[in-house]
Amino acid sequence: MPKEILLCKYGEIVLKGANRKYFEDMLAKEMKKRAASYGKFDIYHSQSTLYIEPADEFADIDGMFDAASKVFGIVAIARAAVCEKNMEDISRVAAEYIPAFLEGKKTFKVESKRSDKSFALDSMEISREIGGVILDAYPRIKVDVHNPDVVVKVEIREFGAYVSAGQFPGAGGMPVGTNGKGLLLLSGGIDSPVAGYMMAKRGVKLDAIHFESFPYTSERAREKVLELAQIVSEYSGDIFVHVVSLTHIQEELVKNCEEDYFTLLLRRYMMTIAEKVAKQKNCLALITGESLGQVASQTIQALGVTDSAVNMPVFRPCIGMDKEEIVQISRKIGAFETSIQPYEDCCTVFTPKHPRTKPELEKVLVQENKVDFNALVEEALGTLYTVHVRAKY
Ligand code: ATP
Ligand code: MG
Repeated sequence: MPKEILLCKYGEIVLKGANRKYFEDMLAKEMKKRAASYGKFDIYHSQSTLYIEPADEFADIDGMFDAASKVFGIVAIARAAVCEKNMEDISRVAAEYIPAFLEGKKTFKVESKRSDKSFALDSMEISREIGGVILDAYPRIKVDVHNPDVVVKVEIREFGAYVSAGQFPGAGGMPVGTNGKGLLLLSGGIDSPVAGYMMAKRGVKLDAIHFESFPYTSERAREKVLELAQIVSEYSGDIFVHVVSLTHIQEELVKNCEEDYFTLLLRRYMMTIAEKVAKQKNCLALITGESLGQVASQTIQALGVTDSAVNMPVFRPCIGMDKEEIVQISRKIGAFETSIQPYEDCCTVFTPKHPRTKPELEKVLVQENKVDFNALVEEALGTLYTVHVRAKY
């Protein structure tokens, strides 16, 4: 078999002009971290493409292919066979490599791209000649230039020539870390892991904060959240999960405040504590899994009351999505089965029977001022401990 290589095509990085090198370097760094688990690879970039080339015969290119498909900043990945830059070798490799991809297919066409203009033939001529070679090697197939089952690509590039049969979608987005760091409010539900994934996709590096309410919430509920962080980390890289106890705050709210306001008050505590942790950890925004109208605390009025507790951007990437759309992403990233395990969340203990859906801030503040807000926040911050969730690539 000819030697295979992965050609990863950039997405939006291509548009980055002067900053492009920075984006390319971040991308290569992400890829190298993952490659470490799959053997020795040379990783380099040229002409809007990141090359992943096995450095010896032990390198696991199948494993690397799966890992590369989770790296943000890549829109498409082609598995290609490497050829010398001459028609004789390209023909030899195409005849040997391509037929396996044509099994069970009826039609194909060849598309060629010649970014090395010193190559003798132009792209039309290359396509015609390699098309002929493939027909000879696999006579059961026919050419269809309009709607082929398989598109064979021949690329004449700076470092070599490559033939491939089909591109696979990459993860899209921008390389993690190119858009700063955010603090994800991570519960054990479906929405917040999806929210984290979506912001990581836009290049945001993640820390997470999880609120628990031991003994009202269990050890098992916390493990579930760490498991979710583990799943998101396959895309985002390592996540530091900061765990904070809300037990005393919740007990004080139950003792002192009107029940209808519990959830809203609790959310203002969560946001306030999260903002303070974010500042300590150099996170520039908070990220939540809220979706407009999903529950009482996610009406426009309730979100207004929640937001007014903090003074930094709050990203809610699920805000305009239906539950079904969120579930689809949750399944895609492999989080769903974990998310639906039935463990309690601190939000689900002491829930009011009739939560306010159109709260007014003044009335919320009347309730909030019945306890010493700042002292409770400081006390909760004192319970913080951090778990380093290492990405398993
Ligand atoms: P999810 O499915 O992510 O749990 P949800 O629809 O159940 O979200 P809520 O429980 O109201 O909604 O929570 C809204 C958001 O608040 C969550 O998406 C998450 O970002 C944050 N949140 C809720 N509970 C916690 C928690 N225990 N720790 C950290 N963040 C939380
Ligand atoms: Mg929840």
